[in-house]
Amino acid sequence: MIPYGRQHVDEDDIQAVVEVLRSDFLTTGPVVGAFEAALAGYCGVAHGIAVSNGTSALIMAVQALDIGPGDEVLLPAMTFAATATAVVMAGATPVFVDVLPDVLLMDPQDVERKITTRTKAVIAVDYAGNTCDYDALHALCRERGLALIADACHALGAQYKGRRTGTLADMTVFSFHPVKHITTGEGGFLATNDGALAQRLRRLRNHGIDADARNRERNATWKYAITELSGNNRITDIQCALGLSQLKKLDGFLARRRELAQVYDRAFAPSPRISPVPQAAGSLHAYHLYVVLLDLPDALTREALFHQMRNAGIGVNVHYIPVHHHPFYQRTFGLGPGLLPHTEAAYERMLTLPLFPDMTNEDAHTVAATLRGLLGET
Ligand SMILES: *Cc1c(COP(=O)(O)O)cnc(C)c1O
Repeated sequence: MIPYGRQHVDEDDIQAVVEVLRSDFLTTGPVVGAFEAALAGYCGVAHGIAVSNGTSALIMAVQALDIGPGDEVLLPAMTFAATATAVVMAGATPVFVDVLPDVLLMDPQDVERKITTRTKAVIAVDYAGNTCDYDALHALCRERGLALIADACHALGAQYKGRRTGTLADMTVFSFHPVKHITTGEGGFLATNDGALAQRLRRLRNHGIDADARNRERNATWKYAITELSGNNRITDIQCALGLSQLKKLDGFLARRRELAQVYDRAFAPSPRISPVPQAAGSLHAYHLYVVLLDLPDALTREALFHQMRNAGIGVNVHYIPVHHHPFYQRTFGLGPGLLPHTEAAYERMLTLPLFPDMTNEDAHTVAATLRGLLGET
């Protein structure tokens, strides 16, 4: 089976992890800081905070803005549910915004329509690895006094008008789950140019405590203060050693993903039924996902095609079930199908094809030929 995504881990990654296992600090040690500095440097952002996973990072970002009950946060429904989880966990109300029908990125005009006096923030999602229209989103947020969070879990290494993700919003969140661009097993990251926010996020990583254990050790004090409530969102040095080693390969991973995307693009160019989601204007795509929209013949459902591809050994997937379709959101917020026409239409037609650095061009040709074959095109 060709999976839809898979990590690339080699000997130097393993060696880096082993070195930490032999060292003094397994967690909250020097490798966490080294990884933070390296990734912040890569993005060109002033501050980086590495945490336990991308979902924790999103929850921390929302908490750092003092968002709570009565507040509304705008976000797309075409995303992994974790984007919305962060809003709901804060006690705030998620307000789902439709996407642009071609690139499936948050539609700034629908953002504008849905801003109310209760709106506190916008969470943009760089779907599939394309970047959102940050000029439009910034202009709106500035004008209406809203914070802008980027969920760039798909888009590490992507660029918008020559600037890297991590610098495009007030806070940016990355994930290091194995299907993402680089992995730490589980892991997440917050990037910001705001020093005060960074300091707050560091507290939120560690129970709302104002200084970490190593600082206390260094300063020879047992005193600490819990200044606000948070849990344990820390990441280990073991994980960060893997992250630091993986980061050295990121540009290679990105280049390989872009090459494979081109193989697919070329294979589908003559197809009347298969429309790849294109690179967005101003965006240098990071290709976390390769998503196509299908115009299926009447005799074939997406469900049937999905199973036929799987039976042919090709691990296709669907990203995503719109968040407002999930029972929790229907029950809690009275939402459901009919709310977001472009999101829902795209969901019915979409298929994610395998894409990961170790895939060969041959694999991509096989995937493309199998899909075209099942659609009666070859
Ligand atoms: C992966 C992902 C997350 C969550 O990251 P985890 O590290 O798995 O918690 C959030 N948002 C999006 C869009 C993602 O793809």
